[in-house]
Amino acid sequence: MTEPGCPENPTGAERLSVVVPCYNEQEVLPEFHRRLVPVLSALGMPWEVVYVNDGSRDGTLEVMRGLQAVCGQVAIVDLSRNFGKEIAMTAGLDACVGDAVVIIDADLQDPPELIPQLVGEWRAGFDMVYARRDSRLGETALKKATARVFYRVIGRLSRVSIPADTGDFRLMSRRAVDALLRLREQHRFMKGLFAWVGFPQKAVLYRRDPRFAGDTKWNYWKLWNFAVEGITSFSTVPLRLATYCGVGIAVIAFIYAGWIFYKTLAFGDSVKGYPSLMVVLLFLGGGQLIGIGVLGEYLGRMFNETKNRPLYFLNEHRPSVLGRAECGAPGKANDA
Ligand code: UDP
Ligand code: MG
Repeated sequence: MTEPGCPENPTGAERLSVVVPCYNEQEVLPEFHRRLVPVLSALGMPWEVVYVNDGSRDGTLEVMRGLQAVCGQVAIVDLSRNFGKEIAMTAGLDACVGDAVVIIDADLQDPPELIPQLVGEWRAGFDMVYARRDSRLGETALKKATARVFYRVIGRLSRVSIPADTGDFRLMSRRAVDALLRLREQHRFMKGLFAWVGFPQKAVLYRRDPRFAGDTKWNYWKLWNFAVEGITSFSTVPLRLATYCGVGIAVIAFIYAGWIFYKTLAFGDSVKGYPSLMVVLLFLGGGQLIGIGVLGEYLGRMFNETKNRPLYFLNEHRPSVLGRAECGAPGKANDA
């Protein structure tokens, strides 16, 4: 992919980029950076860390600037507003230059100390090395249970197999990143997209720590929407479900009609049956509304996709020393 006269990688050494989406993480970021730097330095390969400021309302951007002032390996991607983690990650991936790219949360729930292990598996030839949690400290039993149900449902419904208990913490090879970046859909269910691109994959187990500081941006309403997003992005089974329900109800109605026909002939017709009429009416009405709602979910997504908007806009992109060494790097992320 190297253009003539534009050595993509003058030193020839393989480079590592770490992409960190950040939304209101001012308390955690300095500690995160403090823990990350020794890990990366020990790898013995050129590295950069791309901090994506996802429209934070606190001093996150200032903290990032402070880090960049003392550490040339820091790149800052400042989004024009809060776009959500999925798009923040995409912006970071657009801006990074590494031959291998790690995505990691800023809140220290994903231990940076795992990165050498991820790199090891990448060196062994895997394109997508995902960190799989074998425990979720500091998370409620309810959250664990809902996560488990979610993975099971989506595993059943969609064709790509999405690994369970896996977040966004992972390493990707350059070809996997490039493949992922060609998927520019607005509704970015990243867990699904990661799985969709394929390539040799490998899981590495780790312990998920509780958040270091600050609050989780998740609540159950968001999780529910996330689940709907995942299912509608990767499966059309709900659409088919409406058809099957319709067929089932029609068959039952047909049998019931036969029974009424027979009853009227045999016993005559007395005007009764208001309760059963109401039940059938309400049942069908409700069923139809659900069906329309499901259709609407898909239609709404089509509506959003057809607008074909850019995924995000940048206030500013300040590349790292690695990024600046790359030809034409500044502003690269702007043609999102
Ligand atoms: N995040 C983001 N944009 C958002 C929400 C979250 O970039 O709109 C980042 C956040 O700063 C953190 C990561 O995504 O680095 C995970 O967020 P959080 O810890 O709130 O999620 P959880 O760990 O509870 O799934
Ligand atoms: Mg977290």
